[in-house]
Amino acid sequence: MTPDAPPKPIRTAEVIAVGSELLGSTRVDTNSLFLADRLSSLGIELRAKSVVGDNRRELAEHLRRSLERVDLVILSGGLGPTDDDVTRDAVSDALGVPLVEHPEIVDRLRERFARRGLQMPDVNRRQALILEGGVVLSNPNGTAPGQMIVRGHQAIVLLPGPPRELKAMMDVLVSGDGALAKHASRERLFRTTLFVVGRGESHVEEVAQPVYSKWLRHEPPIETTILAAPGQVELHLMTRSPDAADADRALARARDELIAALGGDVFSIDGRSMEEIVGQLLLDRHLTIAAAESCTGGLMMSRLTDVPGSSAYVLGGAVAYSNELKTSLADVDPALIAAHGAVSEPVAVALAEGIRKRAGASIGVGITGIAGPTGGTPEKPVGTVAIAVIAPDGAAHVRTFSLFGTRTMIKFWSSQYAMNMVRRLLIS
Ligand code: AMP
Ligand code: MG
Repeated sequence: MTPDAPPKPIRTAEVIAVGSELLGSTRVDTNSLFLADRLSSLGIELRAKSVVGDNRRELAEHLRRSLERVDLVILSGGLGPTDDDVTRDAVSDALGVPLVEHPEIVDRLRERFARRGLQMPDVNRRQALILEGGVVLSNPNGTAPGQMIVRGHQAIVLLPGPPRELKAMMDVLVSGDGALAKHASRERLFRTTLFVVGRGESHVEEVAQPVYSKWLRHEPPIETTILAAPGQVELHLMTRSPDAADADRALARARDELIAALGGDVFSIDGRSMEEIVGQLLLDRHLTIAAAESCTGGLMMSRLTDVPGSSAYVLGGAVAYSNELKTSLADVDPALIAAHGAVSEPVAVALAEGIRKRAGASIGVGITGIAGPTGGTPEKPVGTVAIAVIAPDGAAHVRTFSLFGTRTMIKFWSSQYAMNMVRRLLIS
């Protein structure tokens, strides 16, 4: 039996994670992340999620408020047999719907215990209490069955807390003829992302906003979110449509306009990381790379070699942290360091040239900077990083960056900008 289809499709949802342990400092609600993904696959927009302790009155109140806002509420947890498992009762209170014992569930629970040679404790009968008019969702991985009840255009789903149990049950609900799939609209959500490097979030916004704001008024409308992430600014474009080809076309048009506005700073349109993009460019052009890294401690090489198959283009390099090793590993003239300082464009170029020659690579990279928090001077404050790239034709490209943030952030940004210089060189 499945609930009757509501007159209006389900488009919006909230998730309530139930469990006092989730309000402490040691456990985190992960179920909602999984539920968000599966809801998205049905084109259902997750509007809010919350964590509520094992308190019947508070949970009922919370659920009532959620039902004033969205079409679907999914509750996870609190379906166990003990007194602190209050989800069934709270939903019953909130909806004013009584709980009814299902004898066949009691029988199934008894059998489950009997198979292990045990007698079912009487408290487990609580798990056979189903909301009147509700549908039982069977749980292949545990004792607590889930339930779903449809009221008017709204639906409430109760799922057990253990992730393994919840996941299996949610997958059934969203599958082809699953109860939730049936209630969802024919529209689905479609997304695409653009990764931008070399501009801050507000600079991206300044250029992108006039472009994406007009897509909001389009049919179908495209919603854009700007997100600052480590090493990149991300533009997330989302649209809903019953037709995948229509959605893809609309997203591609919007994406192309954004690329036209942001130019070569857009480095990825398919979720691939900088190291994957640079790796592909090197592979396509049959080029190799070597690096002498000081302040990044080998981070750029580490990231490049995170990509499977990178042995086709990464030759290797050196972590040349001390001045002595800059000389012994990358042939940097000590006089150059004495004249300009270890953090300088001439030394970055010398590092790149030295390692390129030693490795016999097409491209050489040199990175030298002050990651902080100490070691800065008025002329060269913390975050000063000189990066050089030697092109396959031997031409040197060098830049000095002024980076902000913690030591970890400065190291990451340095590796990101170094790879971006390589990328820029390869696409020019
Ligand atoms: P419950 O169904 O409330 O008895 O939860 C049983 C167990 O499931 C808890 O002890 C947690 O380990 C796990 N659990 C409950 N809720 C969540 C959640 N939102 N995210 C991840 N794990 C959870
Ligand atoms: Mg619990």
